[in-house]
Amino acid sequence: MSEAGLWEDARRTPLLAETEVLVLGGGPAGIAAAASAAAAGRRVLLVERYGFLGGMGTAAGVTNFCGLHANLRGTMRQVVHGVADELLERIDALGGLNAPHSIFGRTWAQAYDGAAYKCAADELLLARGVRLLFHAQAAGVAMRESGQIDALFVETRSGRRAIRALQFIDCSGDGDLVHWAGAPWEQGDAHGDLLYPTLMFRVAGVDDARAGEAWREVGPRMLQAQRAGRHRFARQGAILRPMKHSGEWRVNVTQIRNAQGRAMDGTDALQLSAGEVEGRRQVREFFAFLRAEMPGFENAYLLEIAPQVGIRETRRLLGRAVLTEDEVLGCADVDDAIGVNAWPLEQHVAGDVKWRWPAEGSRGYNQLPWRMLLPQGVPNLLVAGRCASMNAAAQSAARVSGACFVMGQAAGLGAALALQAGSAPADIDVAALQRGLQAQGAWLGREST
Ligand SMILES: Cc1cc2nc3c(=O)[nH]c(=O)nc-3n(C[C@H](O)[C@H](O)[C@H](O)COP(=O)(O)OP(=O)(O)OC[C@H]3O[C@@H](n4cnc5c(N)ncnc54)[C@H](O)[C@@H]3O)c2cc1C
Repeated sequence: MSEAGLWEDARRTPLLAETEVLVLGGGPAGIAAAASAAAAGRRVLLVERYGFLGGMGTAAGVTNFCGLHANLRGTMRQVVHGVADELLERIDALGGLNAPHSIFGRTWAQAYDGAAYKCAADELLLARGVRLLFHAQAAGVAMRESGQIDALFVETRSGRRAIRALQFIDCSGDGDLVHWAGAPWEQGDAHGDLLYPTLMFRVAGVDDARAGEAWREVGPRMLQAQRAGRHRFARQGAILRPMKHSGEWRVNVTQIRNAQGRAMDGTDALQLSAGEVEGRRQVREFFAFLRAEMPGFENAYLLEIAPQVGIRETRRLLGRAVLTEDEVLGCADVDDAIGVNAWPLEQHVAGDVKWRWPAEGSRGYNQLPWRMLLPQGVPNLLVAGRCASMNAAAQSAARVSGACFVMGQAAGLGAALALQAGSAPADIDVAALQRGLQAQGAWLGREST
């Protein structure tokens, strides 16, 4: 971006609301954070730029939960509980939840209907008394001299407004609050590379019987088509899976580069804009391949291109603990466990997806530490979800929905306990947090329980 700019006049910003806990972002982390803080009796306001909840799970068309299940020495078991259970039940009650399906025979994932997710998440949060502020783009913060956040500024259709809160939880996925409040964060791996974004889409009108197990065939057929010069793909292989309703499949195949040929940066406005156009170009190319070369897809039509390109990784908090890939692969335990991550490393690198798993026969999950939600230097801020404190490789695992629910639930309850104790979240009694999470139905990853 050019350094040239204009000065804006100083202005008085009306106060829209005051609350005890403000959650920025309504993805899996934000839903769980708001639900658990409200369940602990706190006044909670959730701010979301879209008109619906679900984050990447709906806005980016992900429509699939990963990380809810672990392969415990050969037995698949759901290991993320608490708020996630209630959300799953509500999605199921709306007829929108698939049975879990196998991922390479090594773990399970579970697809859902995006519309059901949006409705179920509304119901869940409203039932707990959470106030929802949709169509509000957070744009900055006002700080107190103490180094605490005083208020969040939002741009709304009514104009720019401020919202005061005592505790703030950054579930923006992009670490917006972390950045504005001046807490340390980092972006990219040792080479500055990010996980590649993907624009997701769904097709309908598929002959399911003829398509069969198309997810197995799609990779080899893409290779053939590319070798023969009939099509070009940005990445090898695709995730092509049937959804709940017959004839409907989701497609995860595009890979979005910037003008420098590196992963598009989801915090760069111009790259984001160009990425949407490039994503749709790749969708059309792949859709043409599907109809021409995949049995059962001959009469398919494009049902939906996701509202936005799916962002896997941008800013990551540099918190009091940084989750590492060794902990993920080594199924680590921690004293201040808030729950588990059960997903392997899934790195969307240039042209490919690289998977790394805990050892065969291991318990298949690592515990997540409370300290990965705690920033340095901003006492009334917690950070949950894909922008929490993890190194780049570990983030490729714990960014998925399961771990985001876990982090969100702990952040919400942690904020509530801090208010109760009149202390900063960093100073709360961690054992009390753990007991509280268990009382809310969460599982901390202690095998004896
Ligand atoms: C293409 C793709 C495929 C994936 N596949 C899977 C999968 O199969 N299974 C799985 O479990 N996970 C998958 N993931 C990962 C997962 O969906 C995300 O990492 C997860 O949703 C992160 O949750 P979150 O709550 O941290 O953030 P997000 O889901 O990103 O939610 C953040 C929310 O904050 C809002 N927000 C952000 N900034 C602002 C602001 N300034 N003002 C107002 N609102 C704001 C956003 O609109 C959004 O709703 C995939 C991700 C991508 C991109």
